[in-house]
Amino acid sequence: MSASDLPSARRGVTADTSTVGGDGAPPMIDGYGRHVSYLRVSVTDRCDFRCVYCMSEQMTFLPRADVLTLEELDRLSSAFIRRGVRKLRITGGEPLVRRNIMFLFQSLSRHLESGTLDELTVTTNGSQLARYAQELVDCGVRRVNVSLDTLDPQKFAAITRRGVLARVLAGLAAARSAGLSVKINTVALRGVNEDEIDDLVGWCGGQGFDLCLIETMPLGEVGEDRCDRYLPLSTVRRRLQQRWTLVDSLHRTGGPARYVDVVETGRRIGFITPLSHNFCESCNRVRVTCTGVLYMCLGQDDAVDLRTPLRHATSDIPLLATIDDAIARKPKGHDFVIDRRRAQAATIRHMSATGG
Ligand code: SAM
Ligand code: SF4
Repeated sequence: MSASDLPSARRGVTADTSTVGGDGAPPMIDGYGRHVSYLRVSVTDRCDFRCVYCMSEQMTFLPRADVLTLEELDRLSSAFIRRGVRKLRITGGEPLVRRNIMFLFQSLSRHLESGTLDELTVTTNGSQLARYAQELVDCGVRRVNVSLDTLDPQKFAAITRRGVLARVLAGLAAARSAGLSVKINTVALRGVNEDEIDDLVGWCGGQGFDLCLIETMPLGEVGEDRCDRYLPLSTVRRRLQQRWTLVDSLHRTGGPARYVDVVETGRRIGFITPLSHNFCESCNRVRVTCTGVLYMCLGQDDAVDLRTPLRHATSDIPLLATIDDAIARKPKGHDFVIDRRRAQAATIRHMSATGG
């Protein structure tokens, strides 16, 4: 084991304590000195799509009683904000199919108004955006990530198994006219959309959208061998450079993406390469599922139940103490691997359960 494998407390690393939590409490610093300031909350495991890399055709969803109510999700998120989370992303499943979801956005917007939260965002498949774009803006949301893997209606129907491209495009148009900044998330899939990524760069440029390309991650069984679909982004980037001038950007979000500026369009492309690149040393984020399970790392199974302290005490003290213990346990890094000899998921949970 090398020195860098040890938690910072044992290496004598001094954590950055320049920022304090929302109530003046110390910020959340994990055992490796990383400041956890970004929370992703999955508000449902359900979805109106069944994307081939994310879900199997026949999914068994969680019993409703296990899923946190919107009030509980608000309390949980607010506890993290008390502990210094500055950026909150609502995700799923498909967050915008959860009934009365705007209640949660409206309620959380108080933290933006008070200045204890910098950013409230959402990752969505876009199917409900035409309906909700303006309401999201009214709740203080300024940016949305919308997943879109192809501009071909037939291919879109095949990848999502039940989505309609025109509906998502209408949602994107609504987002644009409501003034939301849009980032398109595209999973690069060998033999499916690899010939289109070049055009997607041009299309995003024309629409004023940034683009984030993602390698398939081995999360959850989906009923097909992901090795067949795995397309390294190094290959994608090489191909894009034949048509576009890509300039490395210093832009960072503390997440796995590395960015380039596209000179011809003036927009940015992010590359998320969890399998071929290790990004864990700067990781600033944790995730909570819709049942209140806190995952300190997307690629590890270690998790902590927050629903019990949430449901069994009216005081937030047990909840905050559980969060603090969990953050101290955040692992050093992930173990993703797509390996033909093992050809199985690195973790058994789906991305839709943990929140992308
Ligand atoms: N339903 C919303 C959506 O599609 O944007 C939010 C949840 S979805 C799980 C979040 C992101 O995870 C999407 O951009 C999706 O493409 C991505 N995703 C899902 N499964 C994945 C996998 N196995 N590998 C890489 N990305 C995945
Ligand atoms: Fe649903 Fe998003 Fe998963 Fe597609 S990627 S099935 S839209 S949760």
